[in-house]
Amino acid sequence: MIIAVDGPVAAGKGTLARRLAAELNYAYLDTGSIYRAVAARILAAGGDPQDPETAAAMARDLTPADLERDDLRREDVGQAASQVAAIPAVRAALLDFQRGFAARPPAGPGGARRGAVLDGRDIGTVVCPEADVKLFLTASVEARAERRHKELLERGEKSIYARVLQDLRERDARDSGRATAPLKAAEDAVRLDTSGMDADQAFEFAMAEIARRRDQERFQEN
Ligand code: C5P
Repeated sequence: MIIAVDGPVAAGKGTLARRLAAELNYAYLDTGSIYRAVAARILAAGGDPQDPETAAAMARDLTPADLERDDLRREDVGQAASQVAAIPAVRAALLDFQRGFAARPPAGPGGARRGAVLDGRDIGTVVCPEADVKLFLTASVEARAERRHKELLERGEKSIYARVLQDLRERDARDSGRATAPLKAAEDAVRLDTSGMDADQAFEFAMAEIARRRDQERFQEN
């Protein structure tokens, strides 16, 4: 089973996707970390994340170790990630890896895994249009900025709410406005507005949706 979790920055995708994967013993891929890894390597080398040649070369040259870099969660890396993500050659270079992960989920400590959860922007539309369950998480930009601001403060980083709100707006506009694989819900995605929800409520909703899909598939098989 493939579960796609898409949505804008700080809508709660990562928390939900990670928890679903743990609950179901599926493999989990945070696809944003791949774009972040490309961006982090460019910034560390003093390059320009908006230069298509530099970014595409970096994407083709990415190694699994890059996904473990400790600077991936930085805010400037997030902004640069959304710049490299707008370059079609970068997206093309990263597609096979994501599709391979979904089709053949890597084994975990308990052995083989029968499914994968991927979170990102274009999982349900481009990477895995055949996904069994597609969730599209949204939340008001203010609720998302509030969450991200709290998260940064909890990590001991300096944060100004108005600045976070501005950054989110910029990233939303870039992610939704780009020509290749823009952020948008697949037609068959189930939408969930998490503005007034906590993580438990989003998890319960998603588990109910997964159970519904499984019943439907069982019914179709018989
Ligand atoms: O989800 P996260 O904030 O880590 O993603 C960083 C950036 O990577 C996003 O702003 C987006 O531009 C890009 N991205 C993407 N497609 C994905 C995942 C992330 O374009 N599937």
